[in-house]
Amino acid sequence: MQEINKGKLYVVGIGPGAYEQMTIRAEQALNECSVIAGYTVYIDLLRGHFPDKELLTTPMRHEKERCIMALESAAGGKVTAMICSGDSGVYGMAGLILELAPEYPGVVIEIIPGVTAALSGGAVLGAPLGHDFAVISLSDLLTPMDTIKKRLKAAAEGDFNICLYNPASRKRCDYLRQACEILLCYKDEKTVCGVVKNIGREGETMEVMTLGELKDTAADMFTTVFIGNRMTRDIGGRMVTPRGYKDV
Ligand code: SAH
Repeated sequence: MQEINKGKLYVVGIGPGAYEQMTIRAEQALNECSVIAGYTVYIDLLRGHFPDKELLTTPMRHEKERCIMALESAAGGKVTAMICSGDSGVYGMAGLILELAPEYPGVVIEIIPGVTAALSGGAVLGAPLGHDFAVISLSDLLTPMDTIKKRLKAAAEGDFNICLYNPASRKRCDYLRQACEILLCYKDEKTVCGVVKNIGREGETMEVMTLGELKDTAADMFTTVFIGNRMTRDIGGRMVTPRGYKDV
């Protein structure tokens, strides 16, 4: 028997914050839906642009509840969009939605990518990710610290550019320092690094510094950190990792 379509759920990456940094496809999906679900902070970023939508919010750490709410809304026949900051698959809800989806046969799920903080933050700093890079989250809420440390070591040994997400929170205030201590075992303390805060939002700031300086830098949950490779340079205050085009 053919499955009857019961609903549609978009999982939308809305980019770093500023409305203009959302993709046209994401905007179309948000226009098309009647319900928008998401973490309160991200819903607040969009609220003014979509005054007629039904909004479903849950606080941080209620991810499963939020996804079930969105799937049920879609299964109930309302076109629903679950929003995530940046990209919906990079430490976002796209995976969890697909894990829960088998319970909701008939809900058609479409994942819409967005500009992740590594890319939007990279553009603010200059061009730090011009060569191979690794993205590592320092959050140990769901990942054992041993695994995080192993990945930091491997990325440093491979001389990757490294982009750190979730570098700190109120409870994890010295994680960035700990990460730098591991990296300093393999990388020079003069390695060029960059810190970007509140990308595409009010209070956006950026700073280029050395790895030695990064160790003593304060970060929060709206900070993304970039660590250069051996070739990364500070060119007039911009962080640049050359690929080698200039020397061909
Ligand atoms: N899905 C998101 C990442 C969620 S994890 C994305 O693709 O960007 C949350 C972490 O992402 C934050 O701790 C921070 O390191 C980074 N981040 C997300 N949005 C940011 C922003 N607007 N400014 C700075 N960092 C951001």
